[in-house]
Amino acid sequence: KRLVILGAGESGVGTAILGKAKGYDVFLSDFGKIKNHYKEILIAEDFAWEEEGHTEALILNADVVMKSPGIPDKAPIVQKLIEKGVSVISEIEFASQYTDATIVGITGSNGKTTTTMLTGFILEQAGVNLGVAGNIGDSYAKMVAQKEIDTYVLEISSFQLDGIADFAPHIAVVLNVTPDHLDRYDYKFENYIASKFRIAMNQKETDYLIYDADDPVSVDWLNKHPVRSKLLPFSLTQEFENGAFIKDNNLVVQIDNNTFTMTTNNLALKGQHNKKNAMAASTVANLLNIRKATIRESLEGFQGVEHRLEQVLKINNVQYINDSKATNVNATFYALDSMNDPTVWIVGGVDKGNDYRDLYPLINEKVKAIICLGVDNQKLMSHFENMVDIIVETPSMTEAVKIAYKVAERGDNVLLSPACASFDLFENYEDRGRQFKAAVRNL
Ligand code: ADP
Repeated sequence: KRLVILGAGESGVGTAILGKAKGYDVFLSDFGKIKNHYKEILIAEDFAWEEEGHTEALILNADVVMKSPGIPDKAPIVQKLIEKGVSVISEIEFASQYTDATIVGITGSNGKTTTTMLTGFILEQAGVNLGVAGNIGDSYAKMVAQKEIDTYVLEISSFQLDGIADFAPHIAVVLNVTPDHLDRYDYKFENYIASKFRIAMNQKETDYLIYDADDPVSVDWLNKHPVRSKLLPFSLTQEFENGAFIKDNNLVVQIDNNTFTMTTNNLALKGQHNKKNAMAASTVANLLNIRKATIRESLEGFQGVEHRLEQVLKINNVQYINDSKATNVNATFYALDSMNDPTVWIVGGVDKGNDYRDLYPLINEKVKAIICLGVDNQKLMSHFENMVDIIVETPSMTEAVKIAYKVAERGDNVLLSPACASFDLFENYEDRGRQFKAAVRNL
């Protein structure tokens, strides 16, 4: 059978390796230039491939097509495949067909990487034979091809979920749903929500769906679209017979009278949003029968993930924090919410049609100065100019950090939490975070 792979990045090349191992005739086609690192693998593995264009004759004859998550359904080549009735799936779907491992699938608008890494960390401490993959790290398909693994913890984006057919995680997590990527969903929030909840569409009665009972979008969706799997909610404000919640400063997970508790003061990751991530991760760990002491110690010891509220340095008793991964307003909301000291806030970049009103109370309460960092800072300046005493703008990270250094006083925080995409001044959010850290270290 002929397997055609659109896009030769991590998931494309991983799928090619698995496809070859399973006896497919494999062809990769990338509309852009393939990164050298991947090209070397394609050559070493003797794959058939092309770049900087799609040759229809070599693609439309596919039996199955794996489309990389970056390629929209609207791409002409994808439309032609769909018209011909060829099945176009994602890497998650393809790879899952070739493993019997227990699968934990984690999705949501914010917190996927943090929760996936945290869950992976707990299971790793417990000695589980584990693969952590999906949107992070090595390709899932490649792992399925090369390793015998008992349990996968997968970070799954909505784009990956759009391309599933039979994929059914034993444990699914929907962390939250807030508007994002609407350009890929006809600017209809409904379509994006539906995409997230596809994670549960093939689940059985014996599977679990963990979700945020404080998120009105998730609750409303589940009321209107019941699932087969067992629901396990988590919440900061409500308690459940089955689910996770906060009670008297304790994080509690209760499933069928089996109870895990720990004090929230000992959680390594700070902020309300991270309590939610910790509840989701410890619910998964509980379902997988991980020892309670191991869960507790892991939640106390987890070091966090780079670019997510990452503590960079303390200089003159000012804490510098890199939250470059906050590319939308909701992520920045939780970053500001978790600040316990007066904060100099560096914000800006490519605005995705942001509505900043949710941030106003937090700005009033916590922010003493705002530094707008982007090519075009007009919108931010006009939104925030009456809210703080000090507001400046610059298109330079070095300059932004220097200004922050001057403005901040002992006991303050300097927080980079842009609420915007990074492509105006940086290659990506990692580049932005690294430049921030370098500038801080140069102070
Ligand atoms: P994702 O992989 O879904 O993009 P990350 O774990 O990389 O999520 O976090 C992205 C941003 O969102 C970071 O700025 C982080 O601090 C913030 N964040 C993490 N968890 C949550 C959550 N549960 N709700 C809202 N924001 C969150």
